[in-house]
Amino acid sequence: MAKNKMTATKKISLRFPRHLVSRPVVYHLIKDFNLELNILKANITSEEGHMVLELKGERADFDKGIEYLTQSGLIIDTLCREVTRNEERCTDCGACVTVCPSSSFTVDPVTREVRFEEDKCVVCGMCILSCPSRSMELHF
Ligand code: SF4
Ligand code: SF4
Repeated sequence: MAKNKMTATKKISLRFPRHLVSRPVVYHLIKDFNLELNILKANITSEEGHMVLELKGERADFDKGIEYLTQSGLIIDTLCREVTRNEERCTDCGACVTVCPSSSFTVDPVTREVRFEEDKCVVCGMCILSCPSRSMELHF
């Protein structure tokens, strides 16, 4: 069964040291790493900057974007935890459906495909323990 490439959505908190305040990092994240970006909070002065961003994109692009930020000297205060599914590994066995306390998984009544809704996930980790094919992954 063909499945989409793995995507990631994460909230990150960035601090800019004084010498990086004027650097266009947001522009580079969008242009060079194909990431969708939502600025949730920004407080930038001539002395320092603090931004909370929601980033969305393919997993590989996301990882490259984070690498770019850290190599640029920005300080990533928090990377919120999240659980993602490796779609290529999932066999639609259904083991995760009954253990999930937030009903993040549903079974398509026709195809029997197991859908995963990341937005509902409360990052309890139960599916990671129960998945026989190790499709569910915890990220920071
Ligand atoms: S981590 Fe917990 S809440 Fe999230 S999908 Fe897995 S079982 Fe459901
Ligand atoms: S337990 Fe793992 S392999 Fe089975 S449906 Fe859930 S994510 Fe897919």
